[in-house]
Amino acid sequence: MRILLVEDDPLLRDRLKMDLGQAGFAVDAVDNGVDAEHMGTEEPYDAVVLDLGLPRRSGLEVLQNWRRHKNGVPVIILTARDAWHEKVDGFKAGADDYLAKPFHIEELLARLSAVIRRGHGKTGGELQTAGLVLNEGRQSVTVADGGVVELTGIEFRLLRYFMLHPGQILSKSRLTEHVYEFDEDKDSNVIEVYINRLRHKLGKDVIATRRGQGYVFGAAE
Ligand code: CA
Repeated sequence: MRILLVEDDPLLRDRLKMDLGQAGFAVDAVDNGVDAEHMGTEEPYDAVVLDLGLPRRSGLEVLQNWRRHKNGVPVIILTARDAWHEKVDGFKAGADDYLAKPFHIEELLARLSAVIRRGHGKTGGELQTAGLVLNEGRQSVTVADGGVVELTGIEFRLLRYFMLHPGQILSKSRLTEHVYEFDEDKDSNVIEVYINRLRHKLGKDVIATRRGQGYVFGAAE
C-alpha cells in the first residue's frame, strides 16, 4: 500500500513517515498543498493522510479539487484538537475519516487499514482472503492449518496488496507502483523474486502467473 503523507510540521512528518514505513507502507511525504495536489493526482495512492493547515494551498482546497476531478482516494484528515468545524468542513469536502492532533500512531494505523479495507469492500476487522489471514500489526500471515508465517518488509507489502485485490490480474508495473515509494529504486523484475518467495512460503498455487499480463492472487478459490 502506498500512502501520500501531507504535513508541514517537519518533526511530525518525519516521525509519521518512519512509523508508517515500519508498519509496511510505502510513504511519499510532502510539506505543502500544491505539491500534495499534484502528487495525489499523478500517483496511484492507496490512501492519503492530509493535514488541513498547509502552506501554499489548504488541505481542504486540495481535497475539494481531487474530489471535483473524481479522484476518490481514501483521505484521512488531520485536524486541530476541538476544532469541530474543521471536521465538518473536511467531511463535506469528501474526507473519509479524521484524526485530531495529537494522536497515537496506533490509531492512525488502525484508521488507515480500515479506510483501505472499506475502499475494497472488505467489512471484517482483519484482512482475510483465500484461506489466509493477514496480521497487519505483526506483519505475518496465518495459513489454513493455523500456522503463522513471518514476512519480510516487501513480502508483507506485496501480500497485503494482493489480498486486497483477489482474482484480479495485477501487472508487474502496477505492483511496483503500490509497493515502492516515489524515489525508491524501482526494478519491476525484482517483484518476480518476491512473488517466488511468497509462493515458497505460502504454496505455489497462491499466486498464478498470467503470461504477458501479470499475476493473479487467490484465483483457485
Ligand atoms: Ca499544519
